Amino acid sequence: MSGKYIIAHDVGTRGSKAVLTDPQGWVLGSAVESYQVQYPHPHWAEQEPEDWWQAVTSSTQRLLAECQVAPKDILCMIFSTQMLGIVPVDAEGTPLRPGIIWLDGRAGPQAQQLMRKLIHPRIFAAVAGAEATGKDVLPKLMWLQQNEPDLVARTHKFLDVNGYLVYRSTGRMVVDWTAASVIGVFNLKSKKWDDFLIWFLGVPKDKLPHLLPSTEKVGGLTASAARDFGLLEGTPIICGAGDAPAAAVGSGAVGEGEGHIYLGTSGWVGVVTEKSPTGRHGVATIQSADPTKCFLIAETQTAGICLQWIADQFYRGEQSDPAVENVFALMDAAVQEVQAGAGRTIFTPWMYGERSPVSDVYVRSTFLNLSVDHQREHMLRAVYEGVAYNLRWILEIMSRKFGWQQEAIPIIGGGARSHAWLQIIADVTGKRVETVTHPLQAGAIGAALTAAVGLGVYPDFETLKEVIQVTHTFEPRAENASLYDELFDAYKKVYRALKGIYRQLNSGSR
Ligand code: ADP
Repeated sequence: MSGKYIIAHDVGTRGSKAVLTDPQGWVLGSAVESYQVQYPHPHWAEQEPEDWWQAVTSSTQRLLAECQVAPKDILCMIFSTQMLGIVPVDAEGTPLRPGIIWLDGRAGPQAQQLMRKLIHPRIFAAVAGAEATGKDVLPKLMWLQQNEPDLVARTHKFLDVNGYLVYRSTGRMVVDWTAASVIGVFNLKSKKWDDFLIWFLGVPKDKLPHLLPSTEKVGGLTASAARDFGLLEGTPIICGAGDAPAAAVGSGAVGEGEGHIYLGTSGWVGVVTEKSPTGRHGVATIQSADPTKCFLIAETQTAGICLQWIADQFYRGEQSDPAVENVFALMDAAVQEVQAGAGRTIFTPWMYGERSPVSDVYVRSTFLNLSVDHQREHMLRAVYEGVAYNLRWILEIMSRKFGWQQEAIPIIGGGARSHAWLQIIADVTGKRVETVTHPLQAGAIGAALTAAVGLGVYPDFETLKEVIQVTHTFEPRAENASLYDELFDAYKKVYRALKGIYRQLNSGSR
């Protein structure tokens, strides 16, 4: 086998993180490039495919230069990308419009039409795990058919973010199984398009790309792509995966029934399993990066962003103080000065609607039970604890409805840098939580290891358990358990009590 390194890109919403690893997944260098999201109309969110390309090519060039690695030493490259995006391209692969990304909720009316077609929102939710929303792929395809029919007629293939980058690299138009599985017309058992649903829903099958598993080699870099990356023509491109399935690999929770928590801007609980249970309670079943397994995912839409929000709104002074190096470190120290339970205040972290544990676009955040005795730091601790209650609720659903049990749960993403938060999550959930060597780069590392399995460096995904190292462990502390049980019970009642009011306040504005 020629070459010694893998380049993996985690192409997110606001930027792309690239890592250079050895075939064992050890990180030797990383580079980040950011780009913009355009919001041309309310609920719309678009990105220029060219910006993703610029980010992955320039970060690759920087990695090669900074790590002093020769192009001939690159074994392969792989992308793990934001999911649920659509890039219509013509036969030459030229995008016909900006990419419609996951954040884009324009297709709300089409989601309603889709559910009516499939009988009723409740029945749809029972089959798909949650009601369809304007952010899902099928409603977005319907929006294009209804609003841009000429463009659809000129579309050769509907690619996703990964599919676009793979096409630009190799000249082949494909969709990886993980990306296909979130469209809604992919059969998880046969790993083929579901012809009945495609016919019933009027999806143009000839415009869907060829399906490939995440571990498969798609082809080699074309001459022009190789020039852009500063790599050799023919460098292998491995098919890649969506960000969540790739992050699962980077968390080390890759065995049957093993799960992890992602604590980034948004968050999720994800479990890898051979079974493909029907989704419910906002838990969806999609394809895992491991071609032999599925991936149960319960997404909480706003996790780390709640901390970012309180940092921006309540700690603005500290943020502009040159003596404060990192406001998160300051908040971590402050939160530990407040007793567990935050003076019996409760914060619900649903700042922009929620998918799981409750599936509700109208729900929003609430600070409950504030009194004149409370200080800013109580509210800060309530935010840390509120995200933890939300995760406990998801874990409860995963356990009661899907039979998932796990003693120690790895946590990855930017939030895992906060050990104060990880301890709170351990205390609130009653679970031992762990974090790994590079929690922030778990997505890119997971992609690199997916490529390593594809290249045969590892025989299977289970073997990767030995590769990902646990660096810190947080045991739940018994002294806080009964208080958190009581507050968690109240937390769940907040939603039931207030959901009608949230709907009243927010349904008119959509
Ligand atoms: P994304 O999902 O956008 O890739 P990241 O994994 O980079 O997000 O995580 C971003 C989140 O991480 C922020 O919203 C913030 O809550 C959290 N975060 C970042 N740095 C720290 C830190 N030092 N301590 C605690 N939390 C942090």
